[in-house]
Amino acid sequence: MSEKLVIGNWKMNGRTGRNADLIAALKALPAVCRDGVGVAPPAAYLGQLGAALAGTPLALCAQDVSRFAGDGAYTGEVSAAMLADLGVRYVLVGHSERRQYFGEDNTVLADKLEACRQSGLTPVLCVGETLAEREAGAALTVIRSQLSVLEAYAGRALVVAYEPVWAIGTGKVAETGQIEEIHQEIKKWLLQCGRGADNIRVLYGGSVKADNAEAIFSVPGVDGALVGGASLDAETFKSICNAA
Ligand code: PEP
Repeated sequence: MSEKLVIGNWKMNGRTGRNADLIAALKALPAVCRDGVGVAPPAAYLGQLGAALAGTPLALCAQDVSRFAGDGAYTGEVSAAMLADLGVRYVLVGHSERRQYFGEDNTVLADKLEACRQSGLTPVLCVGETLAEREAGAALTVIRSQLSVLEAYAGRALVVAYEPVWAIGTGKVAETGQIEEIHQEIKKWLLQCGRGADNIRVLYGGSVKADNAEAIFSVPGVDGALVGGASLDAETFKSICNAA
């Protein structure tokens, strides 16, 4: 896959004024970079960003989606249909923070993937092992079991993000050899389960910064990045996008 995709995950950060400044800076990215750039603000600001990004190639992304597809009595939830209505294109599904703090497992995530499919949204399925799992030699087993949720996913649109949990927000980046190995394994798994791995981007996430982005993007099999903390600083995020 030639064009890299870079998605900035703001997590639970943002205020209307700060968001406007960040978006203004991103709109100034050279046109060639903007085609593969997305921004995932908190749900509270999807309306603000949707309006600001309208007519630009920057993709609006959501950090999560309800497992319930239809409207109804699900207080606090935001449905895939609502996200689509706001102009969202990509949705993070199964981010490690959702798995850790909200107990999201494959049963919940299967519903979320299906909700995305029904509303024409592209899910970004996040997978990755903890440090304990890596040290126990179980990284691949864990990742394959997280990927197995895709066996029931009938949609074609899909992005996978490999995010080793021990590299998220820690400043520790996986070594290029480790990234290459896991990306190749993910692509092999996708092929084995009948998905054309050439059409599915596999992003790397975990402490991607301006000074390591170029090295990460040059790893074979890396089709882009999911960027957390570094996406909150316009200049840093722009440097990462420029390296893609
Ligand atoms: C993330 O939130 O998906 C992420 C990779 O965070 P960070 O870049 O801060 O490690």
